[in-house]
Amino acid sequence: MQIFGKGSENVEDSRGSKGGKAVLGGGVGLIIVVLGLFFGKDLTGLVGQMPTNEDTEVNRGIPTDSAGIQMSKILNSTDEVWEEEFQSMSKEYEKPTLRLFREGVQTACGSASADVGPFYCPGDRKVYIDLSFYDELANRFGAAGDFAQAYVLAHEVGHHVQNLLGISDKLQQARGKVSETEHNRLSVKLELQADFYAGLWAHNAQKVGTIKLDEGDLQEALTAANAIGDDKLQKQATGEVTPDSFTHGTSQQRMYWFKKGFETGDIKQGDTFNSSEL
Ligand SMILES: [Zn+2]
Repeated sequence: MQIFGKGSENVEDSRGSKGGKAVLGGGVGLIIVVLGLFFGKDLTGLVGQMPTNEDTEVNRGIPTDSAGIQMSKILNSTDEVWEEEFQSMSKEYEKPTLRLFREGVQTACGSASADVGPFYCPGDRKVYIDLSFYDELANRFGAAGDFAQAYVLAHEVGHHVQNLLGISDKLQQARGKVSETEHNRLSVKLELQADFYAGLWAHNAQKVGTIKLDEGDLQEALTAANAIGDDKLQKQATGEVTPDSFTHGTSQQRMYWFKKGFETGDIKQGDTFNSSEL
């Protein structure tokens, strides 16, 4: 993938600080958040206060290393695509912030360690990524490459879009009123829609010429979607697959919806909640 244009200034970078270590002492709070994010449950209320961590040094603006620059350019491209998309719905897009960290980080959703993988926190409207996740993506799942990385960021931005559009709120309101199984089913729909939105971003970014895909790039993203599907993750963890506790969707579902977003670029096609497809 080639990417053109400028980077976004809305980046916070604490990779260089030692502050992350203090967070790892967070004990129970940390484990709760990790489990919560992994299983798609909102356990924010259980986390309590975050430890104060004055050591954390946060650099704001476009990073200076190549991996950071690449991320800020992708973020800027998602801003452009979603600003346009929101405009066509007569809405205003409020840009998210990307926080790059290492080891651990404190968020409005509680403390988190890098183990959790990339995530979005609605409370502070930030996307959190530990770039070492990308090494893991490459090493453990064989999903290397810059477009796979772009897909991961675009998926998290997709959750931000759902937050702005009030879609994630509906899921929150359903909590406690529906069965665990039904709640998991809705969580899957939310994840699949974020995949669709990632595909929609790629479609539009390519159309306006911000990104240029190379042969094999699409396959890269699909491998990434495939690698982080719930069935794969569960199989690796437990050796078996239990559909009721899926919160991200099967690999096949994830690929289907990413592809649909990429091929249509049409937000109206992304209502995973009321779709009888996959
Ligand atoms: Zn997600």
